[in-house]
Amino acid sequence: MPSQCGVTVTFAGSGDAFGSGGRFQACVHLQPAGPAVPAGSAAPAPVLLDCGATSLPALRRCGLDPGGIAAVFVSHLHGDHFGGLPFLILDAQFAGRTAPLVVAGPAGTGQRLTEALECMFPGSSRVRRRFAVEVTELDPGGPGLPGGPAVVAEVQAQAFQASHPSGAPALILRLTLGGRVIAYTGDTAWTPAIAAAAAGADLLIAEAYYWDKAVPHHLRHADLAARREELTARRTVLTHMSADMLGHQEQACHETAYDGLVLRV
Ligand SMILES: [Zn+2]
Ligand SMILES: [Zn+2]
Repeated sequence: MPSQCGVTVTFAGSGDAFGSGGRFQACVHLQPAGPAVPAGSAAPAPVLLDCGATSLPALRRCGLDPGGIAAVFVSHLHGDHFGGLPFLILDAQFAGRTAPLVVAGPAGTGQRLTEALECMFPGSSRVRRRFAVEVTELDPGGPGLPGGPAVVAEVQAQAFQASHPSGAPALILRLTLGGRVIAYTGDTAWTPAIAAAAAGADLLIAEAYYWDKAVPHHLRHADLAARREELTARRTVLTHMSADMLGHQEQACHETAYDGLVLRV
């Protein structure tokens, strides 16, 4: 009997902003398992965690249909995390999409998405489409406290405050879908909110930008190793690695992602 719980996690993009290691920018595809009953019912629609500028080729290389994505959860408004949205939206427009696309991100997401569309494809933010782009801005709550959960495309989403300037609040995300909990740091310096977001999660997807070199506003492997006992997720996978971190992968205290990695949680 197939289980009706579970999520297939595909790291379409596991890289940093600069293509280190030849990798695509941040883009993780989450496909919840289909319900067992009623028989023949469609599987729930997949969602993305982040949509960096390179995400369309990244998804296609994995054989994943960008047109099937119901929602994109955006951790923060840097180009390597949300810069693929104009391409995703225009591709859907040209493909005749009719189902709405939800973009859930921090406060300011609606305005920045409009600006990105206008900058890259003038007029594209005002064109009439056969599908709606619905923006949901997630509340990150206060220090150490998550915002109230929002339900977006059948996914329960909680946001926590990250420590990463991006012209808008940056979020650490905790999603519940397919009966599983998946936490995602996005980009952030170490903050106790990471441990809160990942508490008891089935999977933590964590930035590991550098091995141990102190860089502002980002997580290092050294931070995750030092805080290992505070991180109670069942499984942790490292992503967003610089060339420096990629060179230390075999010494890492957690699994490391690569483009095309598929996990079932
Ligand atoms: Zn980044
Ligand atoms: Zn960033």
